[in-house]
Amino acid sequence: MNSSLSCKRGVARRRRCKMQCVELGHRYLLDQYDAPDDTQAQILQFMMRVGKNYPFNNSAHPGTNCQEVIRALIHRIHYLQLQIPCQENHQIVNLLRECLLLFERRAAIRHGLLPPIDHREDIENEPTCPTCGHINFVCNCTPPENTQ
Ligand SMILES: [Zn+2]
Repeated sequence: MNSSLSCKRGVARRRRCKMQCVELGHRYLLDQYDAPDDTQAQILQFMMRVGKNYPFNNSAHPGTNCQEVIRALIHRIHYLQLQIPCQENHQIVNLLRECLLLFERRAAIRHGLLPPIDHREDIENEPTCPTCGHINFVCNCTPPENTQ
């Protein structure tokens, strides 16, 4: 498919439209700005797992999760706030934190755990499980066997 045909804005552009999905739900090409080569893009790849909890997935590969991308956005907005402070940056960070909380609430409910209710001031800094990626009090992973 010609990417210019899938541009929902209908604006003719020399470059491709914004974000393109190249692997449904898992891999995306993100537009890159100020690059000397117009064809360059950045790849955002989410982890793909197989099993009963992952319908439609036929293979597995590493990648990140949505929460980690949100943490990067929050960090970047903090930096942008240092450059040019504004109230909108505070609102953006608060909404991103709310998104993080919703991801963790969703995971807790799916795992039969008590969902976090409080909107933590710095939920993006909560320690996360290296296996599932959820914040520790939402993690439902089996702890590693004692090797003593
Ligand atoms: Zn875990």
